[in-house]
Amino acid sequence: MSFESLNLNPSILKAIVESGYTEPTAIQSEAIPVVLAGHDLMASAQTGTGKTAAFMLPALHKLATPSAVKSKGPRVLVLTPTRELATQVNDAARKYGKTLRVNTVSILGGMPYPLQNKLLSGFVDILVATPGRLIDHIDRGRIDFSRLEMLILDEADRMLDMGFIEDVEKIAAATPASRQTLLFSATLDGNIGKLATRLLKDPKRIQIAAQQDRHENIEQRLHYVDDLAHKNRLLQHLVTDTDLKQAIVFTSTKRDADMLAEDLFAQGHSAAALHGDMNQGARNRTLTKLRRGGIRILVATDVAARGIDVPGISHVINFDLPKFAEDYVHRIGRTGRAGASGIAVSFASHKDMMHLKRIERFTGQNITLHTVPGMEPKRIPRAEAPRSGQGRKFSGKPGGSSAGNGGGYNNGNRSAAGQPRREGGGYARSGERTSEKRPNSGGAAHHSGRRHG
Ligand code: AMP
Repeated sequence: MSFESLNLNPSILKAIVESGYTEPTAIQSEAIPVVLAGHDLMASAQTGTGKTAAFMLPALHKLATPSAVKSKGPRVLVLTPTRELATQVNDAARKYGKTLRVNTVSILGGMPYPLQNKLLSGFVDILVATPGRLIDHIDRGRIDFSRLEMLILDEADRMLDMGFIEDVEKIAAATPASRQTLLFSATLDGNIGKLATRLLKDPKRIQIAAQQDRHENIEQRLHYVDDLAHKNRLLQHLVTDTDLKQAIVFTSTKRDADMLAEDLFAQGHSAAALHGDMNQGARNRTLTKLRRGGIRILVATDVAARGIDVPGISHVINFDLPKFAEDYVHRIGRTGRAGASGIAVSFASHKDMMHLKRIERFTGQNITLHTVPGMEPKRIPRAEAPRSGQGRKFSGKPGGSSAGNGGGYNNGNRSAAGQPRREGGGYARSGERTSEKRPNSGGAAHHSGRRHG
């Protein structure tokens, strides 16, 4: 995407060119159209993602049109937790808005009141403030919010951590209810979610991974899958590849991790499970074995695999996609350690398409489509935009041999009716399993059941 395609005011485009930016960052290309369209927005994007321009550019664009309200008060209010951040926002407003004749004022704690009173008595377009000092001025009746159009909460999570929640709510209550509200925060959950419910109207939600989480040394591949049997065939293919030194295979549930590890072990692979039901001793033994190369394929759940740092991991395989986009980033970061390159493979059925898009939006990266000759998907997921990729060798036959649940995770060899179905895309398999024995925790699995495919 180019900055031109965002339809920003030409003066702003000129300032962007002068800033040396050639294309919008992920948060900018996601957020700017949403803000220009007038929506409230809650966005998770950390410092370094270009978030300041993501709100300042559309704010400036709106300021290029004169206000219909006759007053001198601010049209855009940015609240920041610290003076340093306020200063950065102020500098950005001046840099991007320099040819627009926009008056920017900052009101920070620790600065003399008389100067601030003077600044607030003049025309203000953009007011950047820390909450505590702004409240003082509001209480003294020095701010006229009658023409305020946009309230921006920058690093809202830090404002909450610093105890500014009441101040933020009081400030918001002093502004017109008709305002547009944008909230930027490292996280959008917990108290931030609650604050957003109180202050934002029907917000759009955007999540962008931080620059350091982009994992540019990791090749991300996508395989469309028809059903569980298809997944198993692809997994077989991947794990017999000699380029695969060590892999972590992720499943949705602990039980699936156990069963898949057992099956891989039964097929002759040095495989083991790692999940939260195992005691710490067993988990440590498994990790030590992995580090020493005694385990080639670790089948794990998200929580158990967090932070694993083993340089030999050449592949991460998302047998099931993670529930949260953030977890995708954590998962693939288990490969490509210590400057090495890595391969992250994800299996997705047509039911996973929306989820896949959320992951791609979060990372700001496309996952490249791959097919294995002879193992092409029979059905092409619907609502799928053309995707770049190696060898798009689809048979093109919709409906193919799906398992009756739209390429979900029930085994394709079963009848659709009356079969156990797992919540959340779990791993259910056919009745050929003869024992419900759990694998010995931490070690390699010993069950000899065979998996289809
Ligand atoms: P921020 O995340 O807002 O703190 O921005 C981080 C840095 O990225 C700042 O130094 C910006 O000047 C810079 N920046 C913002 N947008 C872009 C862009 N589209 N291209 C290159 N650099 C950018």
